[in-house]
Amino acid sequence: MPRKKTDSTLEMWAADLLMEAQAITPCPEHGYMRLRHSHHAVDYALSLAEHRKFSGKNKKERIAAVESVLDGLSDQCPAC
Ligand SMILES: [Zn+2]
Repeated sequence: MPRKKTDSTLEMWAADLLMEAQAITPCPEHGYMRLRHSHHAVDYALSLAEHRKFSGKNKKERIAAVESVLDGLSDQCPAC
């Protein structure tokens, strides 16, 4: 099933927030993003998304983008 079309710029912004909050971390060997399963970090990333502006996106869109990035990741690097 094809993934639904998403705004890749917004998703990259959301991934940056998640990294900043340390909710996700890249595999040191392959660079794939992995979930860290830290509720505290995810809460922090969501609050960053809530308060940080991003080119015309409203709060709901910004939070949905963070959740969409989280949904697309697992705690395993696909190449490890
Ligand atoms: Zn890896």
